[in-house]
Amino acid sequence: MAATPDTEAQQKPIEHTLLFIDGKWEESEAGGRIPVVNPATGEVFVSVQEARESDVDRAVLAARKAFDSGPWPRMKPGERAQILWRLGDLIQRDGEELARLTTLENGKPYAQSQMIDVRGSVKAFHYFSGWATKVTGATIPLSTPGDYHAFTQREALGVCALIVPWNYPLSNAAWKVGPALAAGNTCVLKPAEATPLSALRLARLAIEAGLPEGVLNVVPGYGPSAGAALAEHPLVDKVSFTGSTQTGRAIATASLGNFKRVTLELGGKSPNIVFADADLEAASAGAAAAIFSNMGEQCVAGSRLYVEESVFDEVVARVAAIGASMRIGDGFDPETQIGPLVSKEHLERVTGYLRSGVEQGATVLSGGETVGDRGFYLQPTVFTDVTPDMRIVREEIFGPVVVATPFREVDDLVDVANDSPYGLAAGVWTQNISRAHSMSRALRAGVVWVNCYGVFDPALPFGGFKESGWGREMGYDVMQHYTENKSTVIKLG
Ligand code: NAD
Repeated sequence: MAATPDTEAQQKPIEHTLLFIDGKWEESEAGGRIPVVNPATGEVFVSVQEARESDVDRAVLAARKAFDSGPWPRMKPGERAQILWRLGDLIQRDGEELARLTTLENGKPYAQSQMIDVRGSVKAFHYFSGWATKVTGATIPLSTPGDYHAFTQREALGVCALIVPWNYPLSNAAWKVGPALAAGNTCVLKPAEATPLSALRLARLAIEAGLPEGVLNVVPGYGPSAGAALAEHPLVDKVSFTGSTQTGRAIATASLGNFKRVTLELGGKSPNIVFADADLEAASAGAAAAIFSNMGEQCVAGSRLYVEESVFDEVVARVAAIGASMRIGDGFDPETQIGPLVSKEHLERVTGYLRSGVEQGATVLSGGETVGDRGFYLQPTVFTDVTPDMRIVREEIFGPVVVATPFREVDDLVDVANDSPYGLAAGVWTQNISRAHSMSRALRAGVVWVNCYGVFDPALPFGGFKESGWGREMGYDVMQHYTENKSTVIKLG
């Protein structure tokens, strides 16, 4: 394991720890605080104000006022576009600080915070800036007797509650704030309790970019208090949530009171399938990256690996060797490839799955152990000899743990791959183009990657089938989820 570097980056003070409501930094009314733990050390390094129900209420009222009578929804779309583009530029400018905060709060390697979280957020704001001027309606020819001019227009929904998890704290926020604001909505962003810092920094950049007060509010808080208060709030028009399927269900239920629009990006247990004709080196490296990147804390993690029997041993040995060679350590050590898991509770949850796998008869081919005596480190782990009923095969682990199974018949494979309540993503590795297409059709997943894995783009719709969610983020699809379609009919003559 890499040594813990005592870098300047870790010691610099954290600037923003207050709630951001109505364009101002505010204390929490109840005076609660959320301790923020560095997953690399297990130590609390700062605490932020904790939003409770009354703070959430203040934030929602500010967003309501900004929507009902503020300039943002009434601004020319081109002006909104400029502000969002500027926000993207400012994230780029402050990329080092945002990456530092992301690594401090989440633990992931600093280079990945820069390349994925920060760069992904810049791309999202630049992309959604473009949509501000392009959300249009249609003219509709009517067959109804009489002379009418009928048309549709897409209007902003109102106040959007944006509730995000801790695995990509900044880019998950950007994926929601970008389209919500491009469409002219106002928002209340609730970051995960473990990772509030990058979201607070985003708020500060939003002011600098010229966002009017009340348009973006940021309220760090716990799920059952602040999160639930947002999901229930009668003045919130829409909830966009990314997180676990269990919480998604609670949010869908809570939001029924005023029939909020709801989009949900939930969990996954994604199959990654390697055929014998694939480029095995690329497929093995891709399979390892699919499960070990971001410490496996990815909704799209390729956590079920299916390999054609004739090449099973070879591919699985390669994946295990890649996992075993990955340098585990503090995210601020430039040599680190795999950082700590996000929290002690999460590490315990993941190691609970490791024990259950062994108890149910699976074999640990590689990894399986925690690392070091401080911080929340776990070795990348490969299980073989698994059966479809095992918990490690059925449930989302959300850690660097893959279960590998050989297959012979393609028809059986498709049934097995689809045998999950989830349907978020899938991978296929083959050189046979017909097979690539037929597998893409047969797999019940929101995205199918062929000879690649985890390719995201702001233009590409992303979301889940089945219990992996409702609706889509990114692309034009998401703009529909942040707008209402209004029809207008004018009688002529
Ligand atoms: P989580 O559901 O525990 O928490 C996510 C967010 O919801 C946090 O901000 C939390 O405070 C809040 N929350 C918790 N309970 C709430 C409640 N009752 N009402 C309102 N808000 C509440 O999820 P997590 O553990 O932070 O994240 C891991 C999960 O997120 C995994 O299941 C993963 O697959 C999923 N995820 C999905 C995607 C996707 O795009 N589909 C992306 C990233 C993560």
